[in-house]
Amino acid sequence: MILVSTPSVPAADPHGPPPGRESVFQVAPESELLYSLGADGRRRHIHPRVVKGRFWHARRNLGYALIALFVALPLVPIGGAPAVFLDVAQRQFHVLGSIFHPTDNLLLLAFGAGTIITVFFVGSIFGRLWCGFACPQNVYLEFIFRPIEIWLEGQRVAQRRLNEASWTWAKFGRKAAKWSLWALIALAMATNFFAYFVSWSGIAAAWGDLASHQALLGAIVAMAALIVFDLGWFRDQMCAIACPYGRLQNVLTDRDTVIPAYDARRGDPKGRPRKGEDRAAFGDCVNCTSCVQACPTGVDIRRGLQLECVASGQCMDACNAVMAREGLPPGLIRYTSERELETGERRFWRPRLFVYLALMTLAWGSLIVMLAGRGQALVEIVRSGHEPFHVNASGQVVNQQRLRLTNQENEPQSFHIELVSPPGAKLVVSSSSSLTVEPAEVRTVNIATEVPPQAFTNGQVTGVYKVSSNHGFSRSYQFPLLGPNR
Ligand code: SF4
Ligand code: SF4
Repeated sequence: MILVSTPSVPAADPHGPPPGRESVFQVAPESELLYSLGADGRRRHIHPRVVKGRFWHARRNLGYALIALFVALPLVPIGGAPAVFLDVAQRQFHVLGSIFHPTDNLLLLAFGAGTIITVFFVGSIFGRLWCGFACPQNVYLEFIFRPIEIWLEGQRVAQRRLNEASWTWAKFGRKAAKWSLWALIALAMATNFFAYFVSWSGIAAAWGDLASHQALLGAIVAMAALIVFDLGWFRDQMCAIACPYGRLQNVLTDRDTVIPAYDARRGDPKGRPRKGEDRAAFGDCVNCTSCVQACPTGVDIRRGLQLECVASGQCMDACNAVMAREGLPPGLIRYTSERELETGERRFWRPRLFVYLALMTLAWGSLIVMLAGRGQALVEIVRSGHEPFHVNASGQVVNQQRLRLTNQENEPQSFHIELVSPPGAKLVVSSSSSLTVEPAEVRTVNIATEVPPQAFTNGQVTGVYKVSSNHGFSRSYQFPLLGPNR
């Protein structure tokens, strides 16, 4: 499927080039220009007309639920820590009561791979539905920032008039109120975002002692500024030219992907019959352009699916309202697939979905298996010292090691280590180190294994260690011990 980009307002653009200046449409063909580009090459800001139909209501409900989730995750405690707390400073990642460490990199790998393949899978089925319904960019823009703008400046036409009017105190007051409210909300959003990394208690401490937390506060303010820039000014440009997910659509979608589409066979020829003209000579599209006016990215979906379309469904709400007024059935613009539109056949399964599904099963399955086997503790034995081994005064071969214990529970655990094999060997645990480990703590203990020289074959023997805890953890570990080559 090829997505095209075509401007909806060609020659009669009110932002057309000044006399004597060349139109960009003379420089590049219309089909290669963005909707948001005026004929003089400057940006045309899009002011969509909000039509509160069933897709708008579905998006709004889902959007508010997602915002509530975003706020709740770093706020609601589970197992003594926020539900999601990515504590980079302590190198501990709290997720729904479990604690992860940088050493859990295989889990992270499986999670990352699973997420990417799932994006491919969902994108192939639903196209940009994610963009229109769940992407933070559109959720916050359409249901927080835009309603404030409409409240203070009115709907589409009033906004345009205000922008074109000369500056007065009234205009200044409205603009200042709008940008100030946006800035406050952006500050709250940025603070909420950083709470995922420093927790709300960390944020409270920073506000209580501004002088000692300048880096964090500076980062929050910088992020708030970026949010205001994006949701207040950049807006549809993010979806049309900056977002990598949008750029991927050409490879993710095919003829069976669900897309917003205009039914040309039903709608064309467009137009409303004049007095005396036969209604039957026209299609259902009355050429009212309500769908174009409602589109948050300025798309005229009647020209086919285009790169800027974020599948918001706003054109469908607008057109369904027109159809209802005209006494015609809804769905002239609807979510469908190219194949269904052309042949009436709906096909879900195709080879690429099987491939994605197999890869997803592999990635998420590995993650589940690793999580299930993760247990209460992570134990690692590594070699230490400057030499592979040395022989002590009593003739025993000594291997120096480090025992690293990670408590993956939410309560302190006391660990015990014993040497099971080889026979006659002895384990020395450094007396200065405690084997009680706090929740999420990583404790390193120096140990030494003393082995009779006759236990070695070809300079090696396998040591078997059993590590147990007062919480029922018990596991055996093997470690290659080095000695004289006999
Ligand atoms: S809203 Fe419907 S009827 Fe009006 S122009 Fe768009 S497709 Fe045609
Ligand atoms: S064309 Fe329709 S579905 Fe696509 S972004 Fe515009 S309003 Fe949303």
